[in-house]
Amino acid sequence: MPTAYVVGSINRDIVAYVDKIPAPGETVSGTGSAQFPGGKGSNQAVALARLASKGTSVAMVGQVGDDGFGRDMVAFLKGERIDVSRVGVLAGVATGIALINVDPNGENTVAVAPGANHSWPKGLPTLELKAGDLVVCQLEVPMEITLGAFAAAKTAGASTLLNPSPFTPLPEALLKTTDILVVNELEAAALLHMRVSDLDDRRIVPAARKILELGPRAVVVTLGASGLLALETGGRALRLPAPAVKAIDTTGAGDCFVGALSAALLADETLSEATAYANRAAAISVTRKGAAASYPRAVEL
Ligand code: ADP
Repeated sequence: MPTAYVVGSINRDIVAYVDKIPAPGETVSGTGSAQFPGGKGSNQAVALARLASKGTSVAMVGQVGDDGFGRDMVAFLKGERIDVSRVGVLAGVATGIALINVDPNGENTVAVAPGANHSWPKGLPTLELKAGDLVVCQLEVPMEITLGAFAAAKTAGASTLLNPSPFTPLPEALLKTTDILVVNELEAAALLHMRVSDLDDRRIVPAARKILELGPRAVVVTLGASGLLALETGGRALRLPAPAVKAIDTTGAGDCFVGALSAALLADETLSEATAYANRAAAISVTRKGAAASYPRAVEL
């Protein structure tokens, strides 16, 4: 039975609901607040665990601080049946936090203080990888950890999925060891040194083809309320609109998409089936508050 290893960040999200996202120098009064589990790694692990088929194991590989937020996050992940044996608990380091503003249209701004996510005193823990496993990474932990995880996956014959978010220029070695690349429009544009406004309907498919030339075997570009575009090497571009829903909080929609896509791919679904599944899962997540807290379970899909 396959295992998905999510090597990435674990955060506490602290949310202020505001009528208007504050501009620089501006203070606005919120209408409410909440705390949620967060971090792109943790979010993707939760979506995966909630949507994985029976028999698939999900392991989180990350770091938290020896504090209340860290203890809450480890307990939360355990409650989602995620293996936390490779989550380091670091003394004297703060658990990562994200400070989020959400407006009535569901738009958000996010400031992240990475804390423990950037501290891996013992390096990457040993992943017991085998062919058929999947390693899922984002860019909220040090690049050498991500590179190490993908190198280990390739040595073992496992697959890799990269969500290069938040975007930084990618080392060639990372793109060459990436099987599936999942990017939003901003990340796709950054990867190709293009302006996002240039990624219009006419130019998005050629852009996806250019991304494949960088190394991955498949690329999925998520397009927010417009859905997605998926392309495999040698294949035809697939364009899917998003299900029409009333979005109230888009925080973590991309992470839900990545986790759901990973779950479907581990269940041996084709890229086209898996993207359709992820599109439905992510659309449900934007109709509820929070990131991981808003993710559906398989029965709901
Ligand atoms: P990110 O959160 O990484 O910026 P996107 O905004 O592209 O990613 O959203 C990821 C996915 O979430 C989309 O491909 C779609 O499936 C779903 N989604 C996002 N916003 C909406 C929306 N307003 N209505 C329906 N689905 C949405």
